[in-house]
Amino acid sequence: MRWSQVFIPTLREDPADAEVASHKLLLRAGYIRQLSAGVYSYLYLGQRTALKIMQIIREEMDRIGGQEFYLPALHPAELWQETGRWDQMAATMFQLKDHSGRDFCLGMTHEEVMADIARHELRSYRQLPQIWYQIQVKFRDEARPKSGLMRLRHFIMKDSYTFDLDDAGLDASYKKHYDAYCRIFTRCGLHYEIVEAHSGAMGGSQSHEFMVVSPAGEDRIAICVKECGYAANLEKARAGLKPVSDPPGDPKPEVFPTPNVRTIEELVGFAGVKPEFLMKALVYVIPAADKGKQKDQIVLALVRGDHQLNEAKLGDALGGAPFRPAHPDEIRAHFGAAPGFIGPLGQKGVRILLDDALRGRRNLTTGANQNDHHVRHVTPERDFTGEYHDLRLVADSDPCSRCARPLRVASAIEVGHIFKLGRRYAESMGARVLDRDGRQVTLVMGSYGIGVERILTAAVEQHHDPEGMKLPRSIAPFDVVLTPVNLNEEPIRQAAEQLYAGLREARVEVLYDDRDERAGVKFKDADLIGVPVRLTVGKKAAEGKVEISERSTGQRADARISEAVGLVRSRYCG
Ligand code: ATP
Ligand code: MG
Repeated sequence: MRWSQVFIPTLREDPADAEVASHKLLLRAGYIRQLSAGVYSYLYLGQRTALKIMQIIREEMDRIGGQEFYLPALHPAELWQETGRWDQMAATMFQLKDHSGRDFCLGMTHEEVMADIARHELRSYRQLPQIWYQIQVKFRDEARPKSGLMRLRHFIMKDSYTFDLDDAGLDASYKKHYDAYCRIFTRCGLHYEIVEAHSGAMGGSQSHEFMVVSPAGEDRIAICVKECGYAANLEKARAGLKPVSDPPGDPKPEVFPTPNVRTIEELVGFAGVKPEFLMKALVYVIPAADKGKQKDQIVLALVRGDHQLNEAKLGDALGGAPFRPAHPDEIRAHFGAAPGFIGPLGQKGVRILLDDALRGRRNLTTGANQNDHHVRHVTPERDFTGEYHDLRLVADSDPCSRCARPLRVASAIEVGHIFKLGRRYAESMGARVLDRDGRQVTLVMGSYGIGVERILTAAVEQHHDPEGMKLPRSIAPFDVVLTPVNLNEEPIRQAAEQLYAGLREARVEVLYDDRDERAGVKFKDADLIGVPVRLTVGKKAAEGKVEISERSTGQRADARISEAVGLVRSRYCG
């Protein structure tokens, strides 16, 4: 391609509203332009890169026996109502009506549509297993679209779905995807972690996320610093406990005044107790399904003073029921005190959940359910009872639950996610086949997603410098940028034209910067758009030489013009 003839609108300055590096650079390098919040157009370079990512995904999916489909983005509401997700996912689903008033949505994922095909078409165990995939646009009305391509409302996902006869079959399909994902992310040049994931609204028994550690990431993960292999999303991560000793003796609970002391820090400062001797109380509400007949359920969650509550774990402990933090007036109505002075003593009709770290503890201090008062010497089991669950949010340097070495907590970008769905969708949608003995059995499903834009964002985050992107060749829009410093000098022009023809002949993807621009502008643009190799044709062209430089390392070396094409091919395009 001749640069003078293609549209690459590079920008010198960082766009004002872009925060993370990938967002700034993708805009500056002319890859993308915003249409509205979380909705972007992919221009020439952006689309070339997206197509390369999709091709890598496609090749690796085909390699595990995946069959490529293409499903509609417009779904009838009835399908989603069958699995209950029409209501469950309503907050992030684009729901709409056709002219006759019938409900539809724009697909945010495709379990329902795939399972619908399966239930109508799959009849016998002989047809199993199946791996069906597509690369297609998804719509999610994300509350906070941001950071360029990181959190979009309109994005491209490769999603696949497997159908097996039994759990062992699902295990095999899952393993195939796990391995395919490793190959995909490696080929895209990403350094990634595989973490145990919380299954969330998808349900299912096992799930892993593929995470790229980056300060720009919106997820938090815990990774063991030793190679015991433990790594988990913070939503799910477990940790061991450093031993603590309780205050001695066996005194009775004692209320004491704590004027205006509402936070744990204030209480530590005021009462002079260590935070691990405190019990933090948080109030949640499970709204009644039928407001007329039932009351909202009040939940009191207790964690150690120096620990944080993990709401994903609380959700699991509550069995997946929808819940929300209580409003201050609800707290006052139920506990007779303001938030900050709440505790578990004397509570009736409140469901009390304690974090496992409180098991066996004694003589703790907590809210007294009386404004400006706390209560000390509270001992769970003796003074109140509740259910124990793992409710704690793991913190940096907590001991690993496997090997007791410290865990590192890091921000990360989720690029892929695989789920063992089990029978949930197939059951609610009646997707069954006949097994060997002629019995009807429910299909066992898996679901596996990869975000195409997330791969690009993560790759830019991992591979850039202040001058621009340093994309790995596998996903860069071109293999080589050919940069003559001055086309008005005949030897330079001739050498550049000769190299351009030679590279194209050798099927090297080359962007020929034939623009009438100063050399400095061309170099800056080449660095910005992140093409891995630059061939610079300058004064030495008269001696039959050209410079080859690597964007990722900055290494440069002269080569003979006659040998340059062969060198580029063998060294960079193998
Ligand atoms: P997140 O936790 O980031 O909201 P998710 O867990 O809801 O994502 P999945 O349903 O697991 O996402 O989707 C599969 C993949 O699709 C994700 O691993 C991610 O790569 C990509 N993806 C999901 N949501 C978005 C989005 N809003 N913008 C861009 N890519 C996304
Ligand atoms: Mg996910």
